[in-house]
Amino acid sequence: MITAAPADAIDSLLPQTQCGQCDYPGCRPYAEAIASGSAAINQCPPGGNELITELAALLDVPVMPLSASHGATAAPAIAIIDETVCIGCALCLPACPVDAIVGARRLMHTVIAAECTGCGLCLPPCPVNCISIRPTGAPRDHAAQRAASGRLRQRFLAHQQRLSTRGHERHGKKNGVAADAAARKRATLDRALSRARARLAKNTA
Ligand code: SF4
Ligand code: SF4
Ligand code: SF4
Repeated sequence: MITAAPADAIDSLLPQTQCGQCDYPGCRPYAEAIASGSAAINQCPPGGNELITELAALLDVPVMPLSASHGATAAPAIAIIDETVCIGCALCLPACPVDAIVGARRLMHTVIAAECTGCGLCLPPCPVNCISIRPTGAPRDHAAQRAASGRLRQRFLAHQQRLSTRGHERHGKKNGVAADAAARKRATLDRALSRARARLAKNTA
């Protein structure tokens, strides 16, 4: 059983790749699961053995090997979009947790290499399979990963905020369209009722 520790302290050690390989929808939910004792400290492949050692020290629990069922720690990689194949559908944009893809609908998309973590979450939504993950050739660097984590967390929060705002806008638009349709229906009914009342008044006069 893992001893309780503030989720903030645990989250501050996580890579903030937001890849979901730990079985949680992002680093923060994994941090909270560890803090509550419902997740083990060895479920984050991007953090690898260095992270496990740090979490073990923070929580005063034994170091354990990385859980093989959650994947292996990979060398740094980034996504590359084949711009000759990209159809500009924009389906990859909401999938990237750190907004590392830029482009507009019907225009070619491209990856901001400096922000891409190589998580691969943009691959499944692409209908033409024009995104591939390629190693950067650089060695794994735990200190550099830690240095980038604050920025990645901010990018993820901004990404979530943007998705939520767009969701509300769409919902609002949908509600607006429904309200317009209901108002039109009411006006048509009112006109029909007025005509019927006028006919009735004429017939009974
Ligand atoms: S970086 Fe680690 S903690 Fe964060 S979502 Fe990926 S596997 Fe989970
Ligand atoms: S571009 Fe793709 S691989 Fe890179 S961070 Fe975004 S989702 Fe992950
Ligand atoms: S999902 Fe694929 S085709 Fe669509 S914009 Fe992204 S890279 Fe281009």
